Amino acid sequence: MNFINNVIVKTVKILPKSVIYLFAKKYIAGKNLAKGVATTKELNAKGITATMDLLGESVTRKEDALGFVEQFLELLDTIEKERLDSNISTKPTQFGLDVDFDFCLEQYEKIIERAVKYNNFVRIDMEDSSTTDSIIKLYKTLYKKYPNNVGIVVQAYLHRTFDDVVDLNENPTDYRLCKGIYIEPKEIAFKEKDEVRDNFIKILDKMIEDNCYVGIATHDKPIVERAYKIIADKNLSKDKYEFQMLYGVTEKLRTQIVNDGHKMRVYVPFGEQWHFYAIRRLQETPALAWTMAKSFLPFTD
Ligand SMILES: Cc1cc2nc3c(=O)[nH]c(=O)nc-3n(C[C@H](O)[C@H](O)[C@H](O)COP(=O)(O)OP(=O)(O)OC[C@H]3O[C@@H](n4cnc5c(N)ncnc54)[C@H](O)[C@@H]3O)c2cc1C
Repeated sequence: MNFINNVIVKTVKILPKSVIYLFAKKYIAGKNLAKGVATTKELNAKGITATMDLLGESVTRKEDALGFVEQFLELLDTIEKERLDSNISTKPTQFGLDVDFDFCLEQYEKIIERAVKYNNFVRIDMEDSSTTDSIIKLYKTLYKKYPNNVGIVVQAYLHRTFDDVVDLNENPTDYRLCKGIYIEPKEIAFKEKDEVRDNFIKILDKMIEDNCYVGIATHDKPIVERAYKIIADKNLSKDKYEFQMLYGVTEKLRTQIVNDGHKMRVYVPFGEQWHFYAIRRLQETPALAWTMAKSFLPFTD
């Protein structure tokens, strides 16, 4: 990230939440479950499936994690009751990964048990690199017990990911493959756009070769085009992959992919704890973040 982007990132972080929300709301379904349900229904009506996420992360107190577990159980009940076409996405630090691994594992078991009851599915999101080892360990432990109801995310910007995938592919894994959104040091992460793209495609190839299910999570047209070619060349059947996008991002490309006949899943985040998520989205689009900062700061025209 260059100097200007660094300044923008720092500026965005200090703006009042109310200002950030004005700009960030296009990426968030709303602040409560009802809004998440309404957005998911709209997507489903367009033939798009969803993965719903009640926002929250970096929990430091077990009682907060327990509160989130209750809300995720309610979310799974609601998906079933409302007949939504949606699974759920979860962040391990929301369930206390930073506090106690075994406690976090226990919370996941409660959630996945409920997902099993409804024949639903729990995606474990990948967080920053300080958590990669423990998230992989968490996933592997859960996979042994619930092989059909849990999947993991891997990040193409990390040098280690190809090897992680080779290791994980000992079992038929259900992946989401994305570039990765956290700001990682160059010692462990690719920084050049083309390097990340090439690694994304190399990993995607490996997943397909090893017969895994892949959620191709990107808004990057060159990657989508290269993925199309792989899908066509390998004559990949539709039950082996889907495309995934974030709510509010590149809707034109999303429609194009749906019209081309591919399955599309949209990540639908909602809830009171939208702040960290919104900051990360804005950091990804410095132009938007800068427009926002300029409109608020007194020293810019
Ligand atoms: C379904 C899904 C789940 C994800 N889960 C995780 C996860 O668990 N862990 C993780 O680290 N990362 C996750 N990510 C984020 C991902 O790692 C990337 O940071 C993000 O998708 C941007 O990368 P890109 O491949 O879209 O390429 P980019 O090159 O960043 O974006 C391509 C184009 O998309 C558009 N675009 C991208 N972002 C925005 C935006 N915010 N606003 C407007 N336009 C935008 C722009 O036109 C841009 O040129 C997820 C992404 C998706 C789609």
